[in-house]
Amino acid sequence: MPRTDVILADGRLQEPLVRLGRSIVKNTVQAVQARVRAGDTEADAAVEAVLAALPAETTGHRRVLNASGVLLHTNLGRAPLSEAALRAVSVTSGTTDLEFDLETGRRGRRGRGALAALAQAIPAAEGVHLVNNGAAALVLAATAMARDREIIVSRGEMVEIGDGFRLPDLLESTGARLREVGTTNRTVLRDYTDAIGPSTGFILKVHPSNFVIKGFTAAASVRELAGVGAPVVVDIGSGLLRPHPTLPDEPDAETVLRDGADLVTASGDKLLGGPQAGLIAGRRELVEKLRRHPLARGLRIDKLTLAAMEATLCGPPAPVMRYLQADLKVLLSRAEALAASLTCHGVDAYEVPSEATVGGGAAPGVVLPSAAVSVPASLALALRLGTPAVVGRVERDRCLLDLRALDAADDAIVCEAVLGAVGREQEGRG
Ligand SMILES: *Cc1c(COP(=O)(O)O)cnc(C)c1O
Repeated sequence: MPRTDVILADGRLQEPLVRLGRSIVKNTVQAVQARVRAGDTEADAAVEAVLAALPAETTGHRRVLNASGVLLHTNLGRAPLSEAALRAVSVTSGTTDLEFDLETGRRGRRGRGALAALAQAIPAAEGVHLVNNGAAALVLAATAMARDREIIVSRGEMVEIGDGFRLPDLLESTGARLREVGTTNRTVLRDYTDAIGPSTGFILKVHPSNFVIKGFTAAASVRELAGVGAPVVVDIGSGLLRPHPTLPDEPDAETVLRDGADLVTASGDKLLGGPQAGLIAGRRELVEKLRRHPLARGLRIDKLTLAAMEATLCGPPAPVMRYLQADLKVLLSRAEALAASLTCHGVDAYEVPSEATVGGGAAPGVVLPSAAVSVPASLALALRLGTPAVVGRVERDRCLLDLRALDAADDAIVCEAVLGAVGREQEGRG
C-alpha cells in the first residue's frame, strides 16, 4: 500500500494541492487507498486514480443549466447573476473600498453605489436600504415599527413562502401581534379602519406571490389604505421596481409608493434578477429608523452582494429579464435546431411547444409560451448527473428541455450534455 505522504509528494499532485488545498486532496487519497485495499484499484495506479477522483472545484455545488422552464427556480438558486454582476463580485472580493473614501482617506458610506442605484431606480422613494433577503426586510420593519404593537393584515394575505416558513410566524417572532382582518377571499377598507387603534404599528399588505384566489374576491388597494391613519407597509415580494408589460398583475415598488405606501419591501433575487437581498424603500424617516435599529446590524448585507446588486441595477438587463422577454419565434427555431442536431446523432429528440412559468414567488398563474426539446425520460437522471448538470421537466414519459431560461449560447452545451448522457446511459446498460 503506497503511503499517504508518498502519494501527496508526487509531482502530479502539487498543482491540485495548491488549487484545492491539502484537506480535499488528502481525503481523496484516503478514499483511493481504501479502494486499493479492497482490490478495486492497482497500487501502482494510485496517483492516476486520485487525479481522476479529485473534484474540479472546492465547492460541492455544481453548475446547473436550468431547462425546467421555471425562470426563477428556488431549488436552483433563483435568479442567475448577469456577467456584469459576476465581474463586480470579482472586483470587490478582495480588499475593497467598501466603507472607505479613497480621496479623503476616511470612512465612507457602506454600499453607497448600490444604494444610489436603487434610489435612482425608484424615484418615488425618499430613502432606501438593503438587507439580507426579503424576509429580513419584513422582520426589520416589524421589529422597528410594531414590536409589542399590532400589525393589521388581511386573512387573504397570510402567506407561506416556502419550505414551511410562514409570514405570520415570521412577523410574530419579532414580538409584534398580528391583527387579522377580513376573510380569505374578501377584505375591504372598512375591515382595516375598524381595526386601527392606539396599539396599531402598521398596516401590512402582502402580495400573494405564489398563489391566486379567483372568483368572489375583494381587496383594499394601497391607494385606499394610504391616509387612513396608520403607516402602510407593502411586501411586494418579487422586486419589480417599475411596471412590466408582460406581468400586468405584478406590483412594482415605484407604483406602490406613488399610490401612497409608506414603505415597500421586496426580494433582490426574484424579478430584479440580482443577488439574494432584501430591498426596503419609502419615507425617509421610516427608512432611517429601520437603518439605525440595532437589529439592522444583524441583517447586514455582504460586500459581494452589494457589488452584484449595484451591477444588476446599473448594468445590462439581468438574465431573468432577457428570459422573460424572449421571442417565442426565436425559442421555437432554437428548439428545432437543437432537436435536429440531436437527431443527426441518432438521439430520439424532437421540438415541442412548451409552457414556462416565472416561479420563485413571482407572477403566479402567468404562463409564458415557450419551446422545448423532448428527449426520452430515461435520460433525465444522466442529464442531472452530467457536467454541467441539466435539469429538465419530466412530463408523460418524456424529458422536456425548455429553452426559455437558457441563453442561445447554452444550446450547444445542452446538445453536448444530451449526447454525453446518452453515451453514459448506453455504457451503464452495456
Ligand atoms: C419571496 C417572498 C418573501 C421572502 O423573500 P426572501 O427574499 O425569499 O426572503 C416575502 N414575501 C413575499 C410576498 C415573497 O414573495
